[in-house]
Amino acid sequence: MMRIAVGGFQHETNTFAPTKADYAAFEQADSWPALQRGEGLVSAFSGMNVPIAGFLDAASGTHTLVPLVWCSATPSAHVTEDAFERVMAMMLEDIAAAGSLDAVYLDLHGAMVTEHFDDGEGEILARVRAAIGRDVPLVASLDLHANVTAAMVAHADALIAYRTYPHVDMAETGARAAEHLFRLVKSGAREAKAMRRLDYLIPLTAQCTLIEPAAHIYGLVAETEGRVTGNGRVSSVSFTTGFPPVDIPECGPVVVAYGETEAAAEEAVNRIADAAREAEADFRETLWSPRDAVAHAIARSAPGRGPVVLADTQDNPGAGGNGDTVGILAELIAQDAQNACLAVLYDPESAARAAEAGEGATVALALGAKTGGAPGEHPLEGAFEVMRVTDGEFLATGPFYGGSRMSLGKTVRLRKGGVQIVVASRKGQCADKEMIRHTGLDPAGLGILVVKSSVHFRADFGPMASEVLVVESPGPNTADLARLPFTRLRKGLRVTPLGEGFGG
Ligand SMILES: [Zn+2]
Repeated sequence: MMRIAVGGFQHETNTFAPTKADYAAFEQADSWPALQRGEGLVSAFSGMNVPIAGFLDAASGTHTLVPLVWCSATPSAHVTEDAFERVMAMMLEDIAAAGSLDAVYLDLHGAMVTEHFDDGEGEILARVRAAIGRDVPLVASLDLHANVTAAMVAHADALIAYRTYPHVDMAETGARAAEHLFRLVKSGAREAKAMRRLDYLIPLTAQCTLIEPAAHIYGLVAETEGRVTGNGRVSSVSFTTGFPPVDIPECGPVVVAYGETEAAAEEAVNRIADAAREAEADFRETLWSPRDAVAHAIARSAPGRGPVVLADTQDNPGAGGNGDTVGILAELIAQDAQNACLAVLYDPESAARAAEAGEGATVALALGAKTGGAPGEHPLEGAFEVMRVTDGEFLATGPFYGGSRMSLGKTVRLRKGGVQIVVASRKGQCADKEMIRHTGLDPAGLGILVVKSSVHFRADFGPMASEVLVVESPGPNTADLARLPFTRLRKGLRVTPLGEGFGG
């Protein structure tokens, strides 16, 4: 029976995004639960696909769990200094009150940048390490989009990352972190670590593990873990493909491994890094203009084929977008698309006005483009029919968000000609059919579906899609990384696969 402290602090920071994450963003529920602290934490994640849920399932019943603070905010620009310091004060207070501990587990993302630190997780792990001392094992799970830093590797005994994008293995990763942590406590031994950086950034949409080259590289990651060579056993291997829109020197993909000996860990990271280096050309992405994508989708859509899905990646709220740009929507209307739907547009003002008008009413709206996320964009003005009004509360059912109780706030489904729009009062990446279906529309019957998502939508919408196009429409999550105004990357890092080296 071990005494294990369990907490988390999750944020994916896009340093080019328009809005910062303040304390309120961490306190409130969104696609994930609100801030948790104290005994309630142990049951708050039950049945959810989140890392801490997998960890708690693996540890509860057999070990004593000491809850720390856990919170997350939707991806955005920097975490405010105030939010970071308030959450860390809670975490350190909870650790101080916990008494003697055998281990600490933290559910982290790995790409947090705060107003005052480039490396949010490096700072979290350093402070927790200072509080618990050198001998208590400290293990963190990480998102596949972590920009793993040297400080993170130094302060944690193990970093264990997801292996899927869409992230269908978040809970499973928490369980793997638990098994690793149990083993560290039982053996009392410290493992050797190795870290290798790749020297190019991988565009988000090309990181998808359902397609090549990521599919075979992650196969190799799984196969390398547990491997025994002349150098000894490799206990854990993680490959984080990185979160590219982050203007810090340590941005980019990293391989981390742990093993019996330094040589075993080194051999493992080299094996994966070599495979990733060989795959560089295959990590380049194809982007469509809104006009071409909509024309192509209209030509290809046919009853019974399943929707042509357009990924509005640059406005993905899961990557710092506000989910309110209207570039593709305007194109759908201009080209008179039929049986088309866009989800989910963030516009609380329009949702409130439409809800007030009521189902069946026609209401004049200036839709979307209110947050300034894409300079030069204007709201789409016109008359919209209100098809459905909901409270935005529902249970997600797909493989990515499955089990989450979603709270999108007042939500409406609008119609203009053959185009429907799901408009919500809170930001949410459209990665679950229920985000559309709860408004009374079955996405499987659509001819064209536009999702504000980069890759996660593929988990639930991929199987029904007749085709997927990645579209370069206005939004702060710049898909073509060569267009981002980076100033602080490390010298020589290629900003796109086979592209030019930064600062060189
Ligand atoms: Zn991620």
